[in-house]
Amino acid sequence: MTAIAQTATVHPAPPPRVERTRFCTRCGTTSGEADSNVPFGFDRVCGRCGMGVMLSAPRGALPGSGAAIMVVTRNGRISAVSEAAEPLVGEEAGLLGMPVGSAISSPDGDDRLARQIARAAGGGREVAETALTPAPQTVGSLTRLTARIANCGPPRAALLVLERTAA
Ligand SMILES: [Zn+2]
Repeated sequence: MTAIAQTATVHPAPPPRVERTRFCTRCGTTSGEADSNVPFGFDRVCGRCGMGVMLSAPRGALPGSGAAIMVVTRNGRISAVSEAAEPLVGEEAGLLGMPVGSAISSPDGDDRLARQIARAAGGGREVAETALTPAPQTVGSLTRLTARIANCGPPRAALLVLERTAA
């Protein structure tokens, strides 16, 4: 056997692929692989609620359909608030285009939160987890939240999946 034949049998492991899930920014419905082959630009509006836009995010970031979701642009502006997130942070209509700090605040520091959001929106592959509180002017400011922060898109943005922290 020649050296070339030997090396030809060696198959380098493919780079680990992050499984992605598509989700609706409004009703939070998720869809799996079946829809992931839809050409870019098609089927961007959610077929279930007809209002949200379908984006994709790492599968590990989303617990399932109907999650409380916020989408935040790289420069920290809110671009979507799902129905399930509205009772936690306020109505989407009043938050679109607003700085993320107008909806949520981090007990660990808003600068750190801004960096986590910028990193995720820049395409970072890890899913960060952080504690949050709704901003003071929103209802229920005693609520404590846990957020998973991951990248989503297109276009690239940060996905925040909010959950009430168990008391
Ligand atoms: Zn929808």
